[in-house]
Amino acid sequence: MRAKIFRYAVLVGVAALLLSAGMFFRIQLRAEETEIFERLAIEAEYAKNGLARGGKTYLAGLPDESRITWIDRDGTVLYDSAARTDSMENHLSHEEIRQALEQGEGRSSRFSKTLQRRTFYYALRMSDGTVLRVSCDHSNLGEMMRVVALPGAGILVLVLLLSVFFSDRLARQIVRPINSLDMDQPRAVYPELGPLVDRLRSQNETIADQMADLRRRQEEFSVLTDSMREGFLLLGSRGEILSANHIAQDLLAQSPVQTLEDPACEQTIVQTARRALKGSRDEARLNLNDRVWQIIANPVRLDRARAGAVLLMLDITERDQRERLRREFSANVSHELKTPLTAISGFAELMKEGMVPPEQVKEFAGDIYDQSRRLMALVEDILDLSRLEENTRPRPMTQVDLSALAGRVMRQLEPVAGRFSIRLEQELAPCTVLGDESILEEMLYNLIDNAIKYNRPGGWVRVSTGLRSSFPFACVADNGIGIPPDEHERVFERFYRVDKSRSRAMGGTGLGLSIVKHGATYHNARLSLDSAPGKGSRVTLTFSTEKH
Ligand code: ADP
Repeated sequence: MRAKIFRYAVLVGVAALLLSAGMFFRIQLRAEETEIFERLAIEAEYAKNGLARGGKTYLAGLPDESRITWIDRDGTVLYDSAARTDSMENHLSHEEIRQALEQGEGRSSRFSKTLQRRTFYYALRMSDGTVLRVSCDHSNLGEMMRVVALPGAGILVLVLLLSVFFSDRLARQIVRPINSLDMDQPRAVYPELGPLVDRLRSQNETIADQMADLRRRQEEFSVLTDSMREGFLLLGSRGEILSANHIAQDLLAQSPVQTLEDPACEQTIVQTARRALKGSRDEARLNLNDRVWQIIANPVRLDRARAGAVLLMLDITERDQRERLRREFSANVSHELKTPLTAISGFAELMKEGMVPPEQVKEFAGDIYDQSRRLMALVEDILDLSRLEENTRPRPMTQVDLSALAGRVMRQLEPVAGRFSIRLEQELAPCTVLGDESILEEMLYNLIDNAIKYNRPGGWVRVSTGLRSSFPFACVADNGIGIPPDEHERVFERFYRVDKSRSRAMGGTGLGLSIVKHGATYHNARLSLDSAPGKGSRVTLTFSTEKH
């Protein structure tokens, strides 16, 4: 813009100079022309008077300043002060002669290219009808130009320099306020810029509105993705991170990263994302910080062109554990079922083959009976557990008197306790819970049964119920063999036993505490175990009064 203003200003300067020079020369020429014609008219008037008085002799005696020609009415040259008359052509065709013959006087000028000069003619009609013409040459424009060429060129250069200087200043002055225009809050520095500034202002407002809208959407999007329990990662076509919620960021790298190219990025995610960026869906598993993640990457297409990829990261730790437990459970169940079945079929086979002496038949039948009881207990426990796990007991909850229930279970187990010389003690304060009586009975049975089974001869088992901080509770304590601290979690797993042979010998299935744990969950109760090897164990169930 500055260059353009500058160019135009210089052009205007030079054009103005040339135009005024041209006009000056033209006015000058006109003035000179008028002056010449006036002089020629005076001379012609003198010559006319002289000719009238003295004839040709007068003309011949005149000085040579101007050329004088006397022309007859028919155009024949009668006299010429500069040439021989007999060699001269008829002058009737000459402009000034025709004018003089018609109007009394005539004037014209002609330019001779060969002589490079202009000749001015003034003709006057005499009273006898002849025409007297006075003419003179005049230095032409070229000559004049030569005279003024040097100072003119000097002036031109000066004007050029001045116009360059002022044009530059002008261009700077015009452009400076435009350059220093505050684009955020524009003000019209020139009235001509008013519409442009108004437009800028309205565009600024539109942009601000759109930016606010974009920010709001971005925030909404962030809130949405951050509240997700899954990791969410949106990638551009070159692997640049367009959006990532905090789970995705944590999984991707330990510090914030902008692109997948960053070497700090988790390589499993990078590889999966790369395949999606190439256009195909991919999945992967990632084990990180004791959790298992499933990475699902899908390509994103815009107008059929690959535009990036979107990755979802699902925490499948629980699902994974459940699957592992289920696999273990199936393997354990078959193993547990196989043991008594093998024994039963072995004993039965011996009896069938008649290989058992008659006096031992009763003993063998007793063994078969024990193994089948064990099998039944196992199947019952498995069924209970699976029902509890699937929550498929459609029985309605009722108010259950926990102390009465505990007393009943203790009475059931008294013979067993007696067999192992275990003393049963009770501190049963009345309390009721909303629950399923048969499940609660089974839970208490398993706990008291365990306290008797994993005890020492002469040991004790204390069962207490009541309210603690207005919450109903049931507690089974013993001074038996106890459980090592690192096994506390595991004893609630299915089929887990601390001492396998002892459990088997006691007819344990390995499912008792597992049923207790699921029963507690079913009743929304808190289950705690306090136990140490050689000192004994205490299992407490604390029920919440909330309904569920
Ligand atoms: P089991 O049918 O073998 O008794 P449980 O699930 O009831 O299976 O118990 C799991 C294991 O926890 C038992 O095998 C035993 O080793 C241990 N256990 C349970 N209760 C007690 C207790 N009161 N004292 C010591 N060990 C116990």
